[in-house]
Amino acid sequence: MPISFEPTENTRLAREHFRKIAQEQMRPVSRKYDEQEHDLPREWVDWYWKNGRGAAPRVDGPADGMVQVCVQAEELCWGDAGLYLRTPSAALGGAAVAAAGTPEQKERFLASFRSDGHPVWGAMAITEPSAGSDAAAIQTTATADGDEYVLNGTKIFCTAGEGASQVEGGFVVVWATLDKSAGRAGIKSFVVPAGTPGMKLVGCEKKLGIRASDTATLVFEDCRVPKENLLGSAEVKKRDAGAKGGKSSTKGFKGAMATFDATRPIVAAMAVGVGQAALDYVVEALAAEGVTVRYDAPPEQLTAVERDLMRMEAELQAARLLTWRAAAMMNRGQANNLEASMAKAKAGLAVTEITQKAVELLGPPGYSCRHLVEKWMRDAKINDIYEGTQQINQLIVARRILDYPSSMLR
Ligand SMILES: Cc1cc2nc3c(=O)[nH]c(=O)nc-3n(C[C@H](O)[C@H](O)[C@H](O)COP(=O)(O)OP(=O)(O)OC[C@H]3O[C@@H](n4cnc5c(N)ncnc54)[C@H](O)[C@@H]3O)c2cc1C
Repeated sequence: MPISFEPTENTRLAREHFRKIAQEQMRPVSRKYDEQEHDLPREWVDWYWKNGRGAAPRVDGPADGMVQVCVQAEELCWGDAGLYLRTPSAALGGAAVAAAGTPEQKERFLASFRSDGHPVWGAMAITEPSAGSDAAAIQTTATADGDEYVLNGTKIFCTAGEGASQVEGGFVVVWATLDKSAGRAGIKSFVVPAGTPGMKLVGCEKKLGIRASDTATLVFEDCRVPKENLLGSAEVKKRDAGAKGGKSSTKGFKGAMATFDATRPIVAAMAVGVGQAALDYVVEALAAEGVTVRYDAPPEQLTAVERDLMRMEAELQAARLLTWRAAAMMNRGQANNLEASMAKAKAGLAVTEITQKAVELLGPPGYSCRHLVEKWMRDAKINDIYEGTQQINQLIVARRILDYPSSMLR
């Protein structure tokens, strides 16, 4: 079967559409909200809610689904990754509801994101002070009480956590254990609507990069949600010991983890967008000085700068193709756990290297806040941390290739 690496016409149209939005709506306020870290970026939020939510232009023909979502993420992060994360949308919380929710839950929780009301946000809260890469170590508890679950615990580094917890119509998907003695099998996710008593916003992080994004600490103290807000099955099968073969007992946990197969290609695409922004900038700046890449020159005649630029382009393109593969597989309903982690690991590393190199190639101006390149270098690193760190994604790749369970390779 011939393999096509060409995006469809619809995806090409989407790329142009979102690039224009990135250029016209995001770049002009990019520096402002990097500096005003905890302010709501009103210009972007209001513009997007009113004008940006409509679908990209389409022609008749095949749709790319997830590939198009990745192209949108890439282009908007070419504009500004922090603003992209602050875009009013269901985001990671929506991905969790879409992956594990019933049709009734999808309708109930996602309706406000389609309404003409005020902007709303969704978020996903997994990470805790003592549970990050090892999500199975979660300490937040959910206790059944009549028709409700009562949540208690602390969640940290929750992207969009301020908007999702405070603004009516939004929600936070909270991972908590129904039974600590059941290990992974006890961990479930619960939708906590914004403003639910007992969900408290403690504050937002001051960060290295993606400063326009609100990264919240949330405390849950006797926070009550209706039983219908649990995503997936409430059943806890205690058989789990994390050993090879204990598959059925961790189905709920694995189901929740499967959300990452959809979100990792998107994060990889975000990384590619930031890398492309830095590469475009440096290529243009060097061209203005008369320095361009001679693609047809023999290798021994290439300058160090030409080699650097070629390597940056190659790394970026490799990351993009891995991202599109993982997304296209998802579109076709194929298992993409390996490919999603490959894309995320590759793109996270590529963007940190490319943006550092861009700062280096520009010399002192690259380090100056007069240009956005130093910001993109700061914005890059997060792609190597959230949605599974570089090391964790490499572990997943190794497990998949070697066919080892997590208990045997960690
Ligand atoms: C800006 C930002 C936004 C975030 N947004 C969200 C969010 O929306 N929701 C959410 O739930 N979380 C979020 N996170 C948290 C993020 O997902 C975690 O930071 C990440 O999973 C790593 O967990 P940790 O911080 O506990 O680090 P740790 O797990 O303590 O890891 C520390 C270091 O050890 C390495 N390491 C850990 N285990 C292994 C291993 N087995 N083998 C090799 N190396 C290992 C890691 O790769 C890392 O380098 C966010 C974090 C940041 C910084």
